[in-house]
Amino acid sequence: MNKEAILKALSMVEDPDLKKDLVTLGMIENLSIEGLDVRFDLVLTTPACPMKETLVNACKTAILYTVNKEANIHINATHRVVQQTRNDNVLSGVKHVIAVASGKGGVGKSTLSASLALGLSHTGAKVGLLDADIYGPSVPTLFNVHSAPEMVEKNGKNVMIPITSHGLKLLSIGFMTAPGQAVVWRGPMISSAFKQFINDVDWGELDYLIVDLPPGTGDVQISLSQLAPLTGVVIVTTPQNMATSDAARAIDMFKLDAIAKPIIGVVENMSFFTPSDAPDKKYRLFGEGGGRKLAEDNGVPFLGELPFQTELGNAADTGVWDFSKEHMKPYLDVVKEIARQISVISSK
Ligand code: ADP
Ligand code: MG
Repeated sequence: MNKEAILKALSMVEDPDLKKDLVTLGMIENLSIEGLDVRFDLVLTTPACPMKETLVNACKTAILYTVNKEANIHINATHRVVQQTRNDNVLSGVKHVIAVASGKGGVGKSTLSASLALGLSHTGAKVGLLDADIYGPSVPTLFNVHSAPEMVEKNGKNVMIPITSHGLKLLSIGFMTAPGQAVVWRGPMISSAFKQFINDVDWGELDYLIVDLPPGTGDVQISLSQLAPLTGVVIVTTPQNMATSDAARAIDMFKLDAIAKPIIGVVENMSFFTPSDAPDKKYRLFGEGGGRKLAEDNGVPFLGELPFQTELGNAADTGVWDFSKEHMKPYLDVVKEIARQISVISSK
């Protein structure tokens, strides 16, 4: 056994998303061989890679079948989130800015934003969450955080420090206003507040910054798209026509030439309800297939269905989340699918 033979074997394993072999993609590092022991790092593009197990097994098979069937293969699956090439210095420590958008309110955008942030962090990524819903901020409730962020001076500039909670960096306009107090802002104020959120916040180094948008297609969406280097947008909808037709308008907005942000895909929320005394049943209260059809009609990936869950509503209301719980599994699957599509977009 030698390194050349091992690399030749690994160059036969293709990443099904990135459509290149692992050696060409630079995913194999620190290869060493000692007797029958073969060790290397498999460097994935996201810790939330849904293909992790598949790729590890494919590497083992390739070596066992083409190099030496006695080999003891030790693969250390790690990650290095790749940043898209950018030509500006905005949010330079943040590898991916991901917006979560919808046409209608109440479809679960904030709940998904929180779950996406928590789920990515659960897999080992460094994550921040910006609550950009200035009209109805949810992050204070979702995380049970109600303190005002600190301002500090850094390099001669006053910057805001996000609140660290649940392993995330959080920022919300709701941290700066009294609970229940409405924010009445017009276009120019929104864009200047946004400039501050993007330019004057010390986010530090993050793999992902999730931005929870207000519903619809207004000033916040436009400001964010112009000010922040968005990797892409996740669209959330419920199955009903009313929701999907509004979501289609949100997709259209991000596709406009002046905005032109990639759509990562569509998540359908509240797709079905499974009562605890009938675990095999799926009651589709709001119809079937609306989210998938929206994705297909727009030529974007369908990222998955999320069930209606009382446990989730409770977590959202109390700020107590536990991703190791069985009921969070559908969320973790959707999170991984989103991470996978982000890696695909960034490889282009
Ligand atoms: P949006 O941000 O789109 O307005 P929210 O995330 O605030 O929507 O969700 C609206 C309400 O629905 C919240 O009370 C939330 O807890 C609840 N909710 C969202 N998704 C689910 C779900 N899959 N199961 C149960 N309750 C949910
Ligand atoms: Mg919301």
